[in-house]
Amino acid sequence: MKFSEKSNNYLKKLITGQITYKKIFYFLKRKIQYTNVFFLLKNFPSIKVKLKFFVVILGHKCTLRCVDCANFCALMPQKFYNYTDICNDIKTIAGIAKIKKLQIQGGEPLVYNKLNDIIKFIVKLDIDQIQIATNGSKMLDEKLLYTIKNNNVLVRISDYNVIKNSAEKLYKQCITHNIPVKYHKFVTKDSYWIDMGGVDKQRNNNDFLVEKIYESCPKKYCYTLEDGYIGRCARSVVSHKIQKFNPSGLINIRKIRDKNFLRKKLINYIRRPHAMEACHYCNGNKGRRIKPALQF
Ligand code: SF4
Ligand code: SF4
Repeated sequence: MKFSEKSNNYLKKLITGQITYKKIFYFLKRKIQYTNVFFLLKNFPSIKVKLKFFVVILGHKCTLRCVDCANFCALMPQKFYNYTDICNDIKTIAGIAKIKKLQIQGGEPLVYNKLNDIIKFIVKLDIDQIQIATNGSKMLDEKLLYTIKNNNVLVRISDYNVIKNSAEKLYKQCITHNIPVKYHKFVTKDSYWIDMGGVDKQRNNNDFLVEKIYESCPKKYCYTLEDGYIGRCARSVVSHKIQKFNPSGLINIRKIRDKNFLRKKLINYIRRPHAMEACHYCNGNKGRRIKPALQF
């Protein structure tokens, strides 16, 4: 078994008495379990890769224009991606991965006229739970009410605190129609946002520091699909278009035709997590706290 720098640090701490044998036993147990899981995944192609949480970005058209939107939605073209492309991409991933929870996200997904069709398409796939992330500015129309209710889709209302009235209306609409609904607080848990870095943020060339920011970033496991690319978070698949850099650390799933090759690529991607080029232009959760949803 090959030990990483992290493992060596553990050993050093054990020798110097900084951690207990109980802790190191627990660490080794986890390491062996982890290695076994990837051994099985690599050698048995019929086993699907497990994705606990997977985000699908439909496009960046939004009802708000937040200055500090982490995904730069207000600065992106106000449109959604092609319906057929979105469905094909989701089908490709669902064919190789077992998705526990899939989050549909925009921009504002409730203003996409194909949202109903997309949900109907996704519910036919092998996905345990579907949720829609909305800013709470729109109510559900008749068609959506029917589809969401009958497929147990969860409505997740972002708690921006700026459009409280309409968000409350949407919340009540869901409760009235027996639709699962919840408010979502952001990382700070007190409705504040974190300044993740704007358009003009210069590249952080300190690789060590960037890796540290990445390691402490709670968004790094939000594997996200946008316009044919998979990244480790929703920001990573779009920021290069606004901050103008060459993206790396993403997977272009439309370029990989061989299903098994894509599966192996995804396994390696999950197994060897490290900062992407996008992280060099991002503060992660180390930025200052800012007021949520200030508008342009
Ligand atoms: S933060 Fe949310 S509501 Fe604001 S622009 Fe971005 S996606 Fe839209
Ligand atoms: S630090 Fe990296 S993983 Fe975290 S939000 Fe920024 S780009 Fe995404």
